[in-house]
Amino acid sequence: MIKTVKFGGSSLSDAGQFKKVAAIVRSDPERRFVVVSAPGKRFSGDEKITDLLYRCADLASQWEDFSAPFALIRDRYLAIEKDLGLIAAHMGPALDEIEKALASGLVTRDFVASRGEYLCARLMGAYLGVPMVDAAQLIRFREDGELDMDATMLYCAPLKDLPIAVIPGFYGAMPGGTVRTFSRGGSDITGAIIARAVGADVYENWTDVDGFMMADPRIVPEARIMHAVSYEELRELSYMGASVLHEESIFPVREARIPIHVRNTNRPEGGGTWIVNEGTLIKEHRHGIVAGISGRKGFTMITLTKDNLHKQVGFGYNLLKILDRHGISFESMPCGIDNLTIILNDADIKGKMDVLYHEIRTELKPDTVEIASSIALIATVGRGMARTVGVAARLFTALSEAGISSRIIDQSPKEMNLIVGVDQRDFEGAVRAIYRAFCE
Ligand code: ASP
Repeated sequence: MIKTVKFGGSSLSDAGQFKKVAAIVRSDPERRFVVVSAPGKRFSGDEKITDLLYRCADLASQWEDFSAPFALIRDRYLAIEKDLGLIAAHMGPALDEIEKALASGLVTRDFVASRGEYLCARLMGAYLGVPMVDAAQLIRFREDGELDMDATMLYCAPLKDLPIAVIPGFYGAMPGGTVRTFSRGGSDITGAIIARAVGADVYENWTDVDGFMMADPRIVPEARIMHAVSYEELRELSYMGASVLHEESIFPVREARIPIHVRNTNRPEGGGTWIVNEGTLIKEHRHGIVAGISGRKGFTMITLTKDNLHKQVGFGYNLLKILDRHGISFESMPCGIDNLTIILNDADIKGKMDVLYHEIRTELKPDTVEIASSIALIATVGRGMARTVGVAARLFTALSEAGISSRIIDQSPKEMNLIVGVDQRDFEGAVRAIYRAFCE
């Protein structure tokens, strides 16, 4: 078995965290490819190295003094080096070089930001006593800035011959060699790419939580960890607001059918959450039929009525044409015989509602137009829901017992999710009621 392991910033925030990471890596010889983020926050209110680096880059680009944030960066790395008792990591000279490059004004913002991961990987390599391979030699971008997967796979091929290696996350290189970073949180993507390139059997993503929760713990404090979730379910949940892995980090491993195992560096004995392909999700993985519940506030519902609307060809098309004209996409569009409702995201229609209303009135000539704002949508997601009788009944019984009325219902034909819209003030209560109905 080959495991690619990625450690996030909070797992590397100080020497104590480095020791935990090293213990995890050493405890399993299958953990051969170690991808690291830059040191993150040690406590709330602390600063992430990457944020400090961006600040230095911005100040330097204005020819302003960047010594204060740079001193904080220097202190962090030197403290980790010293506390780990490392003598050959040469953090001092490496930091001097970066400081000089910043002062010269000749380096890009991406290059400066990437140094957080670069230095961290050097330290981790030195601490583990294993080689560090620079991501600029592995991860390649095309001229247009998009990831060049073919070239990346080619450049990564020799990695497989190494018994073990540490690789900095978050960045790669353009065809000319200039460093380019992914978007924020992009070390997850590096980990996924390396996992795919070395043909890993598992991509372990080590972070500071026990796994993904079945519901937002700020709303449901007793929410349990998901033991397993499929990529498809996860997409539905994250679309509806659950904050999970970096979106783009999923596809390289998903395509290669490599499972992701999310685990907690501070509690390695925990089971974590497995993210697997739909077909691999077996019954034993799951305690119930629901994988999780997530939701978002901030939607508006526009309901149009017109006699025999269902027989009118082009009504929906013309409505969508109006939206298209204003660059607005829709969330959902359930309809009845004489009515049609469209759900829109408030952020998309901000400042456009009056003109939308006017155009709908004049172009579609509906009998009535009703607008309901402050709507929250809640998605109950689970592959097993499709084969289970009575899911909707259970859900709506739970809502009615909580005294909450649903404003709208939408179920995808794949029956993997059931979306209900409620008044925003009922959002938290509804999430709790649904959680209790399915997950307890
Ligand atoms: N250090 C980068 C960031 O803070 C990338 C990462 O941690 O994944 O966004």
